[in-house]
Amino acid sequence: MDVKVTNITKQFDRFPALDNVSLDIRSGELIALLGPSGSGKTTLLRLIAGLEQPTGGQIFFGDEDASHRSVQERNVGFVFQHYALFRHMTVADNIGFGLKVRPSSSRPAKSEIRKRVSDLLDMVHLSGLESRYPNQLSGGQRQRVALARAVAIEPRVLLLDEPFGALDAKVRKELRRWLREFHDRTGHTTVFVTHDQEEALELADRVVVMSQGKIEQVGTADDVYDTPNSPFVFSFIGESSNLPVTIRDGHMLFQGENIGIRDACEGDGDLFFRPEDVVLTDDRDALYGKVTICRRLAGTRIAELDIANNGHEPHHLEIEVPLDATVAVGNEVRFRPTRWKVFRK
Ligand code: ADP
Ligand code: MG
Repeated sequence: MDVKVTNITKQFDRFPALDNVSLDIRSGELIALLGPSGSGKTTLLRLIAGLEQPTGGQIFFGDEDASHRSVQERNVGFVFQHYALFRHMTVADNIGFGLKVRPSSSRPAKSEIRKRVSDLLDMVHLSGLESRYPNQLSGGQRQRVALARAVAIEPRVLLLDEPFGALDAKVRKELRRWLREFHDRTGHTTVFVTHDQEEALELADRVVVMSQGKIEQVGTADDVYDTPNSPFVFSFIGESSNLPVTIRDGHMLFQGENIGIRDACEGDGDLFFRPEDVVLTDDRDALYGKVTICRRLAGTRIAELDIANNGHEPHHLEIEVPLDATVAVGNEVRFRPTRWKVFRK
């Protein structure tokens, strides 16, 4: 089922939690809503679910305007960060719950529910644990039960709000891979909320980067990492540095000096680049700074630099330097970005 969010605004008090947000979610895709805390991710998910009503705008499930449909009518499946399993029910009863409480007209026969629960247990790799209670499971197992319960009702859309947020890093990583496989086998249209960029980039077909109730960019992991379209996305995803520059007749100037790169943007702007996208150089026309810290990483080295700023607090940034370069604390290094983006002021 494809979902279309059009011009959605959600106002809680006077402050908009979502400000005119539009998004097309494709049928069968796994899309991640990524943004810092308070950016509106949960609110957007709850609006899609029908747990919140929008102040303005519409939500379509396929061609159907679902904006005023109830949660039940929308038939969505949820998983939240904190396992909301029924503690007094076994794993099997938890998974089958959504089917058992259906009105008799649409409720499957008992034997059919049993079969479906058994298939789902198999799918989430928990066969054999059907008689356990939630407190007899690990955190990762509980979240897999929650997912099985969410898909048991054959939801039109699966909504996951930081489902692995409460688990430790190792289990999170395992579940991330597992969820991707599960998705590829079952094909549910899935909206996954996270504030963890690594999780979003690894897991999702497309990433929706959100900030302050707005969508900043929608794209594949490559799109948002390689061609961020705003200063926010550039700094939020991956490592980045930025400096104020002026471009005159195509030449880029920093503090009035030519830094040896050309850009089509004219006037004042902010130059953004990633630490890995620089080369060291002996040219006069280059950026330069003093090394304050040198850090060895697995296959590379990071130099932290202070760049003089006309008597103000220096600009501080990081560049990656080759292992064989002679770069030490206190040295001055000259460098030039090889890939960059200028955002006009
Ligand atoms: P996220 O999930 O990205 O952390 P939320 O969607 O939870 O962000 O919140 C977005 C904004 O809306 C925040 O400023 C939050 O304080 C506000 N907000 C969310 N829910 C409510 C609510 N029920 N009442 C008032 N403000 C809310
Ligand atoms: Mg949230």
